[in-house]
Amino acid sequence: MSIEELTFRDRPINMNERGGRKWVYAKKPSGKWWTRRTIVAWILLAFWIGVPFIKINGNPLVLLDIANRKFIIFGAIFWAQDTFILALLMLSFVLFIVLFTVTYGRLWCGWTCPQTIFLEMVFRRIEYLIEGDYRERLHLDNSPWTVKKIFKKTLKHGIFILISVAMTNVFLMWFIGSEHWLEMIREPISKNLGGFAIMLLISGVFYWIYSFFREQICTMVCPYGRMQGVLLDSKSIMVAYDYKRGEPRGPRSTGDCIDCKQCVSVCPTGIDIRNGTQLECVNCSACIDQCNKVMKITGKAPGLIRYASEASIKGGHTKIWNARNRAYSVVLLIIFSFFVYTLASRPEIETTILRTPGLLYQEQDSTYSNVYNIKVVNKTHEEMPLELKILSHKGRIQLAGNKMTIKDQSMYESTFILYIPKAEITGDKTEVKFGIYSNGKLMETYQTTFVGP
Ligand code: SF4
Ligand code: SF4
Repeated sequence: MSIEELTFRDRPINMNERGGRKWVYAKKPSGKWWTRRTIVAWILLAFWIGVPFIKINGNPLVLLDIANRKFIIFGAIFWAQDTFILALLMLSFVLFIVLFTVTYGRLWCGWTCPQTIFLEMVFRRIEYLIEGDYRERLHLDNSPWTVKKIFKKTLKHGIFILISVAMTNVFLMWFIGSEHWLEMIREPISKNLGGFAIMLLISGVFYWIYSFFREQICTMVCPYGRMQGVLLDSKSIMVAYDYKRGEPRGPRSTGDCIDCKQCVSVCPTGIDIRNGTQLECVNCSACIDQCNKVMKITGKAPGLIRYASEASIKGGHTKIWNARNRAYSVVLLIIFSFFVYTLASRPEIETTILRTPGLLYQEQDSTYSNVYNIKVVNKTHEEMPLELKILSHKGRIQLAGNKMTIKDQSMYESTFILYIPKAEITGDKTEVKFGIYSNGKLMETYQTTFVGP
């Protein structure tokens, strides 16, 4: 047995006995699953770059404007007043992640996680192109510094820095919008020194992650990866080695595994999947492709390493679908539908009416009056003429300013005085109800208090 085989449970494979880093030289993957993953990755990358530029009714598809507490998600704008809906969506999302992982394992990590996509599909590909496959890279790293080595390393790291800066700028657009970003880069740097420093800092972090830290994000930092131990069970679908078929392993043994270690050489986290499910496995499927090539050469059926649950391998089944993952998928669908329903059923406007702090009631000849602050958020994509009426009493409203028109996807703020006849006020606190109308249609009602003598 090799040292790795003996120590894989004691320490991460990319760490030596002293706790130092052991660099992973992964072989360039190829095959059916790699092609599929590449297609998915390019679609996601195109989506990620395109999001700040895709507009729905003049708004970006997604904008996470934390400074102004305004979030646009697929065209729907969420304001600070929507915190409850956002919290509900986040909760559903967490539930979705948990259920998804229990059923489909780490599909997210291998196929859609930005870390995997950037590292495997962008940075490592450039590395393969400049420095060659794993043997050439290993040789290059261990060889003395020559002009050729300096050229290759400078070229690689130069491109890595450029991509890190580009990535950071796309990310910034998700938070400040593409127009604002364009405005900022047209201005002299001295006008946006803070923003420029943040951009440089984040670019530096990206460069460091994808050039040096790499797979350690998955094996040491990512909380989602660490949660796998509690989220996965024997029925979860993951990349698994069929030990029933493969063992006993060896070139001349009766098992299908010829112990060529091709699956290990291609693994971006450097592990041996034949040791069973491990925290370091990001389910990238590279070992499936590599082993299938070996199976083809040896004339055996593909799928010695495949997407399967531990239970299906133990029971000798090749099918991954069972009653449980079907049932969970239905629940996932219900949660997702809830997402869509919550988004679609948001009220068109959201009103807040509060008595102006620090002011008591005022007395006129036949009325008492209170001063209120009003805030209305228009969540539709149309301008709305609004009208405020008192529904619960025979009162009169005097609004600051004469028109109550609210632009699409924006907020209206004003102050008004409510006069109520003395005869209608029976105590020091009276519940009053307002109606907010648009073109004669009641859009929302709002209840608050009116203070009297
Ligand atoms: S690639 Fe397949 S045959 Fe080779 S060691 Fe891995 S599991 Fe065994
Ligand atoms: S064991 Fe296989 S699926 Fe897991 S990370 Fe390594 S190559 Fe990818």
